[in-house]
Amino acid sequence: MIKETIAAIATGMSNSGIGIIRMSGPEAIEIADRVFVSKKKSFKLENAASHTVHYGNIVYGGEMIDEVLVIVMKAPNSYTREDVIEIDCHGGVFVMKRILNILIKSGARAAEPGEFTKRAFLNGRIDLSQAEAVIDIINSKNQYALSNSVKQLSGKLSEQIKQMRKELINNIAYIEAALDDPEHIPLDNYGDKLLTIVDNYINIVEKLLKTVDNGKIFTQGVKTVIIGKPNAGKSSILNILAGYDRAIVTDIAGTTRDTIEEQINLEGITLNLVDTAGIRNTDDKVEEIGVNRAKELVKEADLILYVVDSSTALDENDYEILNIIKDLKTIILLNKSDLETVTDADKISEITGSRVISVSAKDNTGLDELSDYIVKLFSEGIINYNDEIYISGERNKEALENALESFKLVKNSIKTGMPEDFYTVDLMNSYEGLGKITGEAVEDDLVNEIFSKFCMGK
Ligand code: GDP
Repeated sequence: MIKETIAAIATGMSNSGIGIIRMSGPEAIEIADRVFVSKKKSFKLENAASHTVHYGNIVYGGEMIDEVLVIVMKAPNSYTREDVIEIDCHGGVFVMKRILNILIKSGARAAEPGEFTKRAFLNGRIDLSQAEAVIDIINSKNQYALSNSVKQLSGKLSEQIKQMRKELINNIAYIEAALDDPEHIPLDNYGDKLLTIVDNYINIVEKLLKTVDNGKIFTQGVKTVIIGKPNAGKSSILNILAGYDRAIVTDIAGTTRDTIEEQINLEGITLNLVDTAGIRNTDDKVEEIGVNRAKELVKEADLILYVVDSSTALDENDYEILNIIKDLKTIILLNKSDLETVTDADKISEITGSRVISVSAKDNTGLDELSDYIVKLFSEGIINYNDEIYISGERNKEALENALESFKLVKNSIKTGMPEDFYTVDLMNSYEGLGKITGEAVEDDLVNEIFSKFCMGK
């Protein structure tokens, strides 16, 4: 039973228009009543209905501190399932800190990072994977990342995992029961049956593991590669894109597999341009590096921008590369449209089936169309893997990998004809591993570690 009432500044610690101070716990309403003076005479928050807003002042020691709106949310219909008070005050850091301080003096305790969400979890309001999605909402870089985090919050991932665990525990129970009572519960051909089930799970988990990479798209941007022959105008286009719409260009550390060179923001979509240093080192000569290097680069990309100099004819290297990228998410940029056109746009469309956009980096034309098209690909879910379940974070990845490993061990035990009790040990490991994702089987330390990653006030 949680007794303490916690309070924190929920909005950022910067001077903004409005600041929110949040309080949660059994005494939240009582503490608020000690410092809130309503504009309505002798009104008390304890008499307020849930989910109502009240206008008044925070007054402490006879001093008027700030004019505020107070929102009352009563248990269990609140984020934490406890009584929650939100005080909307003027957003100056000084005022917010002052009010927080007054709440603490009036009986609340300062919340630890992530403690509100931790309470939501402990009170059964959300599960662990939903809690992690909250971290992503807080850290989301753009609106698309936000919509995806919201999706995980709705519990689609949890549903799938819970379903698997339910089936697993049934199978474990069946085997255990059969081992106890072999006369009445047959295990004939059970290995074959289990093999089918386990194979299916291996597929599901492998698929989920793949989405760990896809998930990165949302938190870290779309992995984008700009390729093309030397002098096609790649750098010129990159420069325009980087300066586009007051874009943010930063150097960010990449993943272990590649280094992200630049991050560009196109109308809310973050594009991470994958380092093409390998190509630049050899004078940008796609011909010299060969088609293999191009293959390798595009394989990892979620979006390929292929730049062609429209004032020169296509050669065999172009054809070869166009053939490689034709099945990938590619946009062809026919650059130098200000010059006399030599290349055949129709032919390129025919080979690749990709969208071909005429641009001129020199005159800065056509790039609006590119930007609009990328936004369109996103909104239609062509780049953002809308249908995939999104898995965030290393913790979930590790849990999935462990579950996969255990499933493979079960498969091996069946194939090598091991006795049935061997199956249950590994099935149980998978069961526990998957439970770590939904938080149904986690140790306290882990819960603390995860919630301490939240920022204050969430
Ligand atoms: P990269 O080697 O593919 O990175 O190509 P660059 O961006 O360095 O451009 C190669 C040359 O083409 C430079 O001299 C640019 O000024 C020129 N260039 C790039 N884009 C255009 C364009 O749209 N029109 C014209 N006329 N020249 C361009």
